[in-house]
Amino acid sequence: MSAKILDGKWLASIYEQDIHRQCQTLSEKFGSAPGLAVILVGDNPASKAYVGRKGKVAARCGIQTFDTRLAASASKEEILEHIVAFNKNPEVDGILLQLPLPGELSSESDDLIAAIAPEKDVDGLHPFNQGLLLQGKGVLRSCTPLGVMKMIDLALSDVKSGDDIESTDQIPVADLSGKKAVVIGRSVLVGKPVSFLLLERNATVTIAHSRTKDLSAVVREADIVVAAVGKEHLVKSDWVHSNAIVIDVGINRTEQGTLTGDVAFDEVAQACSAITPVPGGVGQMTVAMLMHNTLLSYMARMSQ
Ligand code: NAP
Repeated sequence: MSAKILDGKWLASIYEQDIHRQCQTLSEKFGSAPGLAVILVGDNPASKAYVGRKGKVAARCGIQTFDTRLAASASKEEILEHIVAFNKNPEVDGILLQLPLPGELSSESDDLIAAIAPEKDVDGLHPFNQGLLLQGKGVLRSCTPLGVMKMIDLALSDVKSGDDIESTDQIPVADLSGKKAVVIGRSVLVGKPVSFLLLERNATVTIAHSRTKDLSAVVREADIVVAAVGKEHLVKSDWVHSNAIVIDVGINRTEQGTLTGDVAFDEVAQACSAITPVPGGVGQMTVAMLMHNTLLSYMARMSQ
């Protein structure tokens, strides 16, 4: 049996169309478009590529961008000044500090993220928004975990990647009551928030990590597997059962320089019911969810 392939590029494009439609209607009504500020420090090629992609997707969605590029030698105070200015700027609805920060600045990431106004924290990483997630409240949820949930909705719907659908409204929000989910990875960025989103949808959630004993046996129990580890092809075909939905968050660079996930895609796709590819899976959805959050933040501002 071959699994349903959850094409993130296709799903993200439908989200972009939805967001574009809403941005157009609301921009006409309120006379201004949503605004996203992206702060890039240093010249890490991967970060530069991500920021470039975010700018292009924002333009397609009808979101205006405010880019700040700082040298790797920038001080914490300099970055803070930009964050404070964007916090005050009424045209900016969302602020994204591109991570990882270079060199010693990386140890300042938590402080800098905490300086972003929580209502503009479209990456959903501010401790206030993470606290609200823990309480089952709040609106701005981190982009990658949110993208994971949208992939699970697609897996459980009658819609197939590539179908000619007009809106993501045609993909119902899935109730995961009775389903066992195993999240591999417990980072603040992915593993923990995705676990709480799964719990919010009534899944029974196990969080596995590097100290988990007999990981393959734990994963084999799962109806939903989320792999967020950073270890190439850790999850093998004999780790999953035939009804499992497998969501691969991992991004690993192979010796050949290509990108691959935490799941051995070719073999696992023959053994489970639905699976995300890498590249072309969750990563695409992460960017779409950033636009989604920027729109939510704009709508909240406009409703005040
Ligand atoms: P991270 O902070 O390094 O966390 C990795 C987690 O995996 C840790 O909880 C670690 O356990 C666990 N782990 C490590 N080795 C393991 C093993 N052998 N068995 C079981 N668990 C193990 O990484 P992250 O930020 O969560 O990112 C995870 C992956 O997702 C990376 O490849 C990253 O590039 C990718 N990512 C992708 C996107 C996207 O948009 N697609 C976004 C963010 C991240 P301990 O806690 O015990 O150390």
